[in-house]
Amino acid sequence: MTTPTVAMPPLGQPAAWRWRLPYLLLALFIGAILSLVWLVRSNDLEEQRATLISDVLWIEQNLRFQLEKNADVLGELGPELLGRDGMSYNAAARAMRLIQPGNPVVQVIWMAPDGSIGGAMPRLEVMPPPVDRAETTTELPSSGLFRLAAASGRAVFGPVFKAIDNDVRFAVYVPYYHGSEFAGVVVGVHSLRDLVNREVPWWFSERYELSILDASGEEIVSKSKVDASATEMEYLIPLDPPGRGVSLRVRPYRAQVRWVAALLSGAIALLAAGVVWSVWQLRRHMVRRQEAELALREEYAFRRAMEDSLLTGLRARDMDGRMIYVNPAFCRMVGFSTEELIGHAPPMPYWDPDDLARTQALHEYILARGTTGDGVEVQLKRRNGERLDALIFEAPLIDAQGRQTGWMGSVLDITEQKRARHLARQQEERLQATSRLITMGEMASTLAHELNQPLTAIASYATGCLNRLDQGAMDPIEMRGVLGKLGKQAQRAGQIIRRVHDFVRRSEPKRERLDLNAIVRESIGLVEPDARKRAVDIEVALIEPLACTQADPVMVEQVAINLIRNGMDAMKEIPASRRRLLVSTTSTAQEVAIRVVDHGSGIPPELARKLFEPFFTTKSEGMGMGLNICRSIAELHHGRLVFEDNPDGGTIFTLWLPSSSA
Ligand code: ADP
Repeated sequence: MTTPTVAMPPLGQPAAWRWRLPYLLLALFIGAILSLVWLVRSNDLEEQRATLISDVLWIEQNLRFQLEKNADVLGELGPELLGRDGMSYNAAARAMRLIQPGNPVVQVIWMAPDGSIGGAMPRLEVMPPPVDRAETTTELPSSGLFRLAAASGRAVFGPVFKAIDNDVRFAVYVPYYHGSEFAGVVVGVHSLRDLVNREVPWWFSERYELSILDASGEEIVSKSKVDASATEMEYLIPLDPPGRGVSLRVRPYRAQVRWVAALLSGAIALLAAGVVWSVWQLRRHMVRRQEAELALREEYAFRRAMEDSLLTGLRARDMDGRMIYVNPAFCRMVGFSTEELIGHAPPMPYWDPDDLARTQALHEYILARGTTGDGVEVQLKRRNGERLDALIFEAPLIDAQGRQTGWMGSVLDITEQKRARHLARQQEERLQATSRLITMGEMASTLAHELNQPLTAIASYATGCLNRLDQGAMDPIEMRGVLGKLGKQAQRAGQIIRRVHDFVRRSEPKRERLDLNAIVRESIGLVEPDARKRAVDIEVALIEPLACTQADPVMVEQVAINLIRNGMDAMKEIPASRRRLLVSTTSTAQEVAIRVVDHGSGIPPELARKLFEPFFTTKSEGMGMGLNICRSIAELHHGRLVFEDNPDGGTIFTLWLPSSSA
């Protein structure tokens, strides 16, 4: 398990250029690849063109050479065909060889110096018109060309023309001079098709389409193996001889390599598109990832902030009890750092060494079962040696697959709480002891007061009886009455002592069914002598019947006496005629109450707040504990002690207690 204490690296927003850079590089890469393809292709074309030109020049030269050679052969035939002794047999044989099928020369005509036909091989079907009337160059033989050859002394090529058999032909007029004397012309009629067929080698026609065009650009002869019309490359060169606008056109066949290049370019384009698509996909993925990472980071920061601000210590342990996570609050609590705690196996450094065995046993118990809802209290030791009271709640740590991988514990530092509780308890005990002491002191003085009266009465009754005995004037009936009164006073004294004894002995309230009217009567019985002394007139107004309450009679009586005493104290300064104190009982549906109404000095608002504070008194001989204890007694019985201003002057104190029927 990875501990969340590992800090996440900061997330920088990628700059726009970082996104654009791959696209830019990709575009550049594609551009470079396309340029390369284009360069290779143009180099290829350039090379093809160079090869084409050299091949065309070669073929043109070849044709020219062949025609010149033929002209030479025809020239060599001159002496034998136009010799003074007529045509020799040898000449006929040579001419025959020249016009053999496959040879470009299809006919040999020889002409005398005057332009007349000397003969032809093969023979002419129709005798041509006389030379001077046949001026056109396409007619055979042409007088114009004859004359030109005679005049120039060189072989003259005639124009191309279509023969009857659709063959395309041209003639070469080769003059013959016998010494310096013109002796005639030998005409060699060439078949252009045969010339091309014979002189253009097979490999040339495999690679090129060769055509011969006439002056108007019309194709008259061609040699090709494959159609090359789709090609855009061609080379046109004048074919001279025969000249006169005849040209040689050569076109290379579309190379197979072009398909490969196209395929390659297509593949590159496809691959580039694929790369663009995958970069785009990658970017989308990255954006989604980034969004998820951002959300995770926010979640993490939120969780971290939450954990850091927690006051409750959190710690997780694996199944062996090894620490796998602690939050800052826990570290602060025990005084050890995260690094010191993570990975630590029991015994932990914050266990109390004096109580190791117990802590170990508790640890094993928690690892086996966890803790209940109330948690487990344990005493630990901080790094600085201070004791730490902790309340631990342990729960199983369940992973995403639902398996338990360890224990998650929340730890509350209850040291202060425990100390405060302890202090409060001590204080309360002290207070109770003090209040008891005070009460005892008050009781003692009350006792003194109260016992004084019955004892004085007993003493005076006893003295009276003795006097009568001494005088011998003893009336038994009178004596009986006096002794009866004496006994009553002794009983009362005994009652007072018993009550005090009861109060002092018991610390816990003894709840019993109580009639507040009886309590009021008892209390008044107790304070009556004092009231008489102070000239206070006590009025009693009890409602009958009154619901009972569950309470400690001595304590409630204590409250009633205290309230009555305070009331009497408050009326010290007013004229004796107005010193009236009303003690009454009252009830509501749920409560019963004793009410003490005085007409004394009243309670100024600035004192009202402090009234119930311990030791608050305005009396020189007062202890200031009375009301405080009275309120404690009221609260002990789930009741309340309240006061209000008396509209007639003075104060009204009311002790409310829950009625037992409620
Ligand atoms: P103590 O009687 O010893 O002073 P108490 O707690 O009983 O202590 O009373 C506290 C103070 O409350 C008294 O000193 C007095 O000033 C005031 N007080 C109590 N009851 C009355 C009353 N009925 N009228 C006016 N003041 C009163």
